[in-house]
Amino acid sequence: MTGHEEMLDAARHAVACASTVTRTVQHRLDDFKSLLKPDDSPVSVADFAAQAIVAHKLGERLGPIAMVGEESATELQAMLSRGESTIPAQVLDVVRLEWPGATMDQVLEAIDVGKDEPPHNEAPYWTLDPIDGTKGFLRGQQYAISLAWLDAGRVELGALGCPNLAPGATGALQTVDAGGSLYTATRTGPMLESACVANARAQVLERPPHDPVQGITTTASVEKAHSHQGATAELLSWVREHVPADHGGVAAPARIDSQAKYAVVARGQADAYIRFPVRRDYVEKIWDHAAGAIVAEQAGVRVTDIEGKPLDFAHGSTLKQNRGIVCAAPDVHELLMEAIAARRAAHAETKLT
Ligand code: AMP
Ligand code: MG
Repeated sequence: MTGHEEMLDAARHAVACASTVTRTVQHRLDDFKSLLKPDDSPVSVADFAAQAIVAHKLGERLGPIAMVGEESATELQAMLSRGESTIPAQVLDVVRLEWPGATMDQVLEAIDVGKDEPPHNEAPYWTLDPIDGTKGFLRGQQYAISLAWLDAGRVELGALGCPNLAPGATGALQTVDAGGSLYTATRTGPMLESACVANARAQVLERPPHDPVQGITTTASVEKAHSHQGATAELLSWVREHVPADHGGVAAPARIDSQAKYAVVARGQADAYIRFPVRRDYVEKIWDHAAGAIVAEQAGVRVTDIEGKPLDFAHGSTLKQNRGIVCAAPDVHELLMEAIAARRAAHAETKLT
C-alpha cells in the first residue's frame, strides 16, 4: 500500500469502529447523558467516545499523529475533579466496546490528541468531527463521523461515515439503516463506498452525470439556525424560472443533518447541497467540511462558497475566507451562482429604492 492508501485504510477503519460506539449510544439515548458546551451547542457521551476511538485507532496503525478535533477532554476532566463521574464513566464504558481494556486516563489522553491547533508551518494534520450533526444524532436521525487529512493547507484525503444512511444512490434519507454508508476519497482517486462497518469491502461508486431533463433536486440543513431557508427558497425559485419549461421541476430541499448532505450529492441522489449563511459573523469550521468536500469533489461535484470561491483550508481551524457552501453538479453549480448574483442584485436595488 502507498502512504495515502495506508492512511485512507486506517481512516476508514477508525471511522467504522467509532460508528459502533455512536450507534450503541444512539439506540439507547435515554440511558446516556448529553450536555451543553459553553457555546450552547450539544455534546453527548458519543462525541467524546468517538473522538477517543478515532485517535486511538489512527495511532495504532500510523503511530503518533497531529489532530484537530472538535472535542477536548477538558470538560470530562473538570467533571472528574468535581467528583461527577457519571458522564466520564459512560464514555469509558462505550469506548471499551472497540478498545477493550482502555483506562480512563488513556481515554482522556486519546480525546486530547484532538486538542491540537492547526500547525502554522503547513505540516500535515488530521481533522475530526466525531459527531457532525449532534442535533440530528440526538433526534435519532442522520449524523456523520467526519475525518480528513490535510497537508500544506489542502485536504488530501477524507473518510465520511454516515452510520444511519442507507447506501447507494437511492438509499432512504430519513429512515435509519443498520449498516450505514462510508465514503472515502483521496485527491488523486475516485470516491469509494462501503458499509459503515469495520472490515466492510469498499468499491468505487460513480456519480451519474446530472440529467437536466430530470429536474433539479437539492438538500439542506434541518436546523434553521445553520442555513438560511428563506434565501435558499429564493435561489431555487430563480432557478425554477430560468430552466426550460420542458425540464423536470426544481424540488424543495430534502432536509438532513450533517455532512451526509455532501454524500447525498456525491452519490448522485441530489444535485446540490446549499448552505446559505444565516449570520454574517459565523465562520464555518474545517471539520464540518473537509471530508465531505473531498468526497464530493472526487465524485465530480463542484464545491465552493456562495461567492464561487474554492474552500480555503489554509487558515487554521475555520474557513474564514469563505461564506456558506454551494456543493453541486457542475451545471447546477453554474445556475446557482447565477441565482446568487441575481438575488444580490435584486436586494441591492431594493435597498436603494
Ligand atoms: P448541519 O447538520 O448541516 O445543519 O450542520 C451541523 C453543523 O453546523 C455543526 O457541526 C455546527 O458546527 C454548525 N453550526 C453551528 N452553528 C452554525 C451557524 N450559525 N451557521 C452555520 N453552521 C453552524
Ligand atoms: Mg459538526
